[in-house]
Amino acid sequence: MAYVSRHIHSTNNMTEQTTPTFKLVLVGDGGTGKTTFVKRHLTGEFEKKYVATLGVEVHPLQFHTNLGPIIFNVWDTAGQEKFGGLRDGYYIQGQCAIIMFDVTARVTYKNVPNWHRDLVRVCENIPIVLCGNKVDIKDRKVKAKNIVFHRKKNLQYYDISAKSNYNFEKPFLWLARKLAGANNLEFVASPALAPPEVTVDAQLMQQYQTELDAAQNTQLPDDDDDF
Ligand code: GDP
Ligand code: MG
Repeated sequence: MAYVSRHIHSTNNMTEQTTPTFKLVLVGDGGTGKTTFVKRHLTGEFEKKYVATLGVEVHPLQFHTNLGPIIFNVWDTAGQEKFGGLRDGYYIQGQCAIIMFDVTARVTYKNVPNWHRDLVRVCENIPIVLCGNKVDIKDRKVKAKNIVFHRKKNLQYYDISAKSNYNFEKPFLWLARKLAGANNLEFVASPALAPPEVTVDAQLMQQYQTELDAAQNTQLPDDDDDF
């Protein structure tokens, strides 16, 4: 594959194995929590590289699966998205993606189709996860029934809370299964994460999940108005 990691596992003097490595493009409006999310993974944060020509940080996030290790090179902007779209160089050779919005700011969900359009213009057929971040905040504005974009475009959706680590691994697990073509792929160890800065209400998260499951079974609206 095109992206091979520099993490070489020397099993003995004769054999070297490389870890399958994939470029993950992280997009969404400024302020939705992209940087907070990627920095939760501590070894990825420690080993990040700044690409000055593009103004991006690349975080190598390693996960351990029953099929061996996998690395997502997560691309994160230095904030350029606040001033409009991102340059093609950000997307080129992206192999998977996360589109993030903030469940407390409706405009960030309204902009999801724009981020998706920009992404697939360059990366035509890659697995994409839509994440609604900040579900720890009590005053949630974008509710399960409002979140339909992923169903129209065959993306996966997860509620997340970067600050609490809630569902941190879910998007990566779904992407790893798609990239490996293996639905039986499982994570066998948890990565070291930054300690939670907030806690989520487990009962409320369970209620959100029930609402999301129910929303999956409702009919999609015909129009493009998501609210
Ligand atoms: P970015 O512009 O998308 O990279 O967003 P940042 O990571 O810079 O986060 C923007 C703001 O949202 C910061 O003040 C973060 O502390 C806050 N934030 C990020 N994730 C969460 C979260 O899960 N919960 C809460 N309550 N705040 C968050
Ligand atoms: Mg950022």
